[in-house]
Amino acid sequence: MIRAYKFRIYPDKEQIQNLESTLNACRELYNAMLQQRIYAYRMGRKVTRYSQVNEIPEVKKAFPEFNNIHSQVIQEVPVRLDKAYDNFFERVDKKYNGKNIKAGFPRFKSRKRYNSITYPQSGFKLLENGHILASKIGEIRMFMHRPVDGRIRTLTFKRNSAGEWYAIIIAGNPSKKKPVEDHFSILNEDMNPVGYDVGLKSLITDSNGEHTEEPQYFRKSEKSLAKANRNLSRKKKYSKNWFKANRRLSRVYRKTVRQRDDYSNKLSRDIVDNGNLIVFEALNIQGMVRNHHLAKSIADASWYDIIRKTTYRAESAGKVVLQVDPGNTSKMCSKCGNIKKDLKLSDRIYKCNACELTIDRDENAAINIKNRGLLLFLYAYVYLQKHFKKVGRVTSEFTPEEIGALPARATPVVETGSPRL
Ligand SMILES: [Zn+2]
Repeated sequence: MIRAYKFRIYPDKEQIQNLESTLNACRELYNAMLQQRIYAYRMGRKVTRYSQVNEIPEVKKAFPEFNNIHSQVIQEVPVRLDKAYDNFFERVDKKYNGKNIKAGFPRFKSRKRYNSITYPQSGFKLLENGHILASKIGEIRMFMHRPVDGRIRTLTFKRNSAGEWYAIIIAGNPSKKKPVEDHFSILNEDMNPVGYDVGLKSLITDSNGEHTEEPQYFRKSEKSLAKANRNLSRKKKYSKNWFKANRRLSRVYRKTVRQRDDYSNKLSRDIVDNGNLIVFEALNIQGMVRNHHLAKSIADASWYDIIRKTTYRAESAGKVVLQVDPGNTSKMCSKCGNIKKDLKLSDRIYKCNACELTIDRDENAAINIKNRGLLLFLYAYVYLQKHFKKVGRVTSEFTPEEIGALPARATPVVETGSPRL
């Protein structure tokens, strides 16, 4: 996990002067480089970040004040300019796609608007006493209110509008893929398997019988989406009103997508908290793509998103997410395995005609999903143990050949995270 840590720093008078003059020099360099790119563009030439980095030694010769600045801090300036250009092109793209924004070409920066300098790799050090040592600036008093985890990557000094200074430290290690046997560590703990059925009536139902209803605002935004869509279809294509309706539709669409995104974040957190072996039905992606109903396709996509987010979160929490074969999960009795062929969509209660089980329809499906996941998980465990005697070994991963040698019965079941079968 890579994180940003923001700490208040207390530079002394001389250090403040130093920081300010560094800021100012970097700002002037930034503006000069922007100017250079604009000129070059007008002359039909192209100036890149690399060519500008290569010119820095000459800049230093001409302007000795740059010798008082750490070289990497100077080199980071054209990187910043690149980012400004990237953001500009991104906004142009969005505008082209109907978003009502200003594209805003990269601007020359005033003193007010240029507020930070960055050490992109080295030239600084966190000290034992919690202060920070930065090349060409010195040791600055810092209030480190929490420890910094992992490898330290970059340091940025930033001044806010009140004139206070902060150090922003980016640190952490990229999350590593776990060896296969690590995924089986939940066998030693409480496995707590939970299956989830994506329902018609409730949004989801879990195998403990908990229903999660769709938030009210989903319905509302679906309605406005449909309305905006109808509105657009009534306009003459490429007319002024058509463009207007188009913009409106994309606004409503983006709002809907954002709502879904917030919600799927929350839901995936709840799901990961709720169990250690998490089982979903495999989604039929092809069916999703073929679906032309706008609101429905967003709902499908957000399911895909919920599974993706859950898998991601589960992985860092040491939990396992599986997707299992969705065939007959509704029609099968979760107690005796009997298939009830005449189950109708309108039947809310599942009544088994072989064993008397009477249960909520979605809960029955969720239990079937849980059982399939449990079976698959144990099956994979036993299989790997029997054939490779490697489960329990902690050093290395299974090779692709070993994983490819798994029997076909295990493969139609798509798995999203771990274990990799
Ligand atoms: Zn039964």
